Amino acid sequence: GRTIGVLGGGQLARMLALAGAPLGLRFLVVDSAEDACAAQVAPMLRADWRDFDALADFARRIDVATFDFENVPADTAHWLTEHTKVFPNPRALATSQDRLAEKSLFREIGLDTPAFAAVDSRDDLARAVETIGTPSILKTRRLGYDGKGQFRLKSVADVDAAWEALGGAPSILEAFVPFERELSVVAVRARDGEFRTWPLTQNWHADGILSASLAPAPHAETLAPIAFAHARRIAEALDYVGTFALELFVRDGRLLGNEMAPRVHNSGHWTIEGSPASQFENHVRAVLGMPLGDTSALGINAMLNWVGELPPADPVLAEPRAHWHDYGKSPRAGRKVGHATFCADDAAEMRDRLRRIGAALGREAQVAPVIAALG
Ligand code: ATP
Ligand code: MG
Ligand code: MG
Repeated sequence: GRTIGVLGGGQLARMLALAGAPLGLRFLVVDSAEDACAAQVAPMLRADWRDFDALADFARRIDVATFDFENVPADTAHWLTEHTKVFPNPRALATSQDRLAEKSLFREIGLDTPAFAAVDSRDDLARAVETIGTPSILKTRRLGYDGKGQFRLKSVADVDAAWEALGGAPSILEAFVPFERELSVVAVRARDGEFRTWPLTQNWHADGILSASLAPAPHAETLAPIAFAHARRIAEALDYVGTFALELFVRDGRLLGNEMAPRVHNSGHWTIEGSPASQFENHVRAVLGMPLGDTSALGINAMLNWVGELPPADPVLAEPRAHWHDYGKSPRAGRKVGHATFCADDAAEMRDRLRRIGAALGREAQVAPVIAALG
């Protein structure tokens, strides 16, 4: 059997390993954290991203390397290409690690973005606030996730607070978009260039962290082919191999690019039960050069994220066509510790299912926007 090496041992690595097992694949995870949750399902090598002796050993033991963690230093990824195959390639990783490079690429391929400006100093920020205005969001160019590394400016009076909050890190100032909704494309590109997308997904965030997803996104017949074409152009520009996500805002009925994730993505977790081939299965197929699987949706699918701590599992386990995912992580504020997926044949059945679950778990606020979107 072939072995896939995964840099990063979080829940994404764990779900990759679980998806690859039926295909006869083995996994080796590398992470510096002793309690990395993928270690519960796959062997783990403990090392940090600069431990090149350990990484050389890792490279010898695998057939191909991929990522659970998008912020692996680009030079480590590049070093690895001299020792094993690496997908996605380090250039794709580097571009999506830097919000400035990422948004510039979006514009080059014809995807509009919120107005933005590079900020390298407090003076830059003051000038950017003049041109972009408020409300706006200052985001570090690198290393942000789950809304971390961001500061929302209400007025020009917030300039100093914003600059201090981000510790003077190279950043971009972005116009705040009063969007109608958020969508994501989860897509996969094979080594031979074949490109597939799962149906468009609608997403809701709470405190900058994904809270719920619904797929296929309702009322997106016009936007879906446009969104897919943007994702395809991005993948081709980067010669991308594997699964990735493109996060979009819809404003006045038009698409704006927010960011991309060069890896399997939380908004694609519904594909585990909701599609013949999940984002995880197609990622491992893609990086190994196997044929891609069917990315259609089996009915309507909703995903609820468990952030901070898990709710009781039993009401979900008792529900038909519901699926429970416990990542085996210890509870911590703002940490993704699990999710649940719900499948239904039509919108009415999904609304009933979510109402029951919301009430049973005391999560009415979390399910409410999803129920509303189902019409
Ligand atoms: P992720 O965990 O998705 O990688 P992140 O920390 O990289 O998150 P973003 O995707 O930039 O952060 O922002 C998180 C969420 O904050 C977005 O999904 C959106 O709901 C909101 N947001 C971000 N930028 C803007 C904006 N310019 N206008 C309005 N809302 C925004
Ligand atoms: Mg991000
Ligand atoms: Mg995001």
